[in-house]
Amino acid sequence: MFRKLLAASVLSIMAAGAMAAECEVVLEGNDQMKYNLDKIEMSKSCETFTIHLKHVGKMAKNVMGHNVVISKAEDLQAIATDGIMAGVDADYLKADDERVIANTHMIGGGEETSLELKPADFDPANKYKFFCTFPGHVALMQGDLIVTE
Ligand code: ZN
Repeated sequence: MFRKLLAASVLSIMAAGAMAAECEVVLEGNDQMKYNLDKIEMSKSCETFTIHLKHVGKMAKNVMGHNVVISKAEDLQAIATDGIMAGVDADYLKADDERVIANTHMIGGGEETSLELKPADFDPANKYKFFCTFPGHVALMQGDLIVTE
């Protein structure tokens, strides 16, 4: 009896998973100062949304470091500019920068990291960006974080 019940609940979890939106994405950064994605779609139907950052290059963090920072579009440039002053040990982010919604650490070639977002906190009426704050990278390493219902 118990076994049957368990099998039924596993099946219903699998069915729900197949219908649900993708609640995670893998974002790659490389030695050519590029991400592999220029937009990420995040559904508000996800309780949490995870961005996995993989540095697929070989260069070290202090030469070709990458992170992922999430903010409103209008805050991107100021966060990146202030981040340069903060230095590599601070992941090129100003301490306690309130404009930063979420961020990963800075990583070098062969490393990976991730961050988690709460889609419920995002307003689809706003424009959001994901970007890298290593000095000079934001010009090429940025994309739109699109919030969908
Ligand atoms: Zn970078």
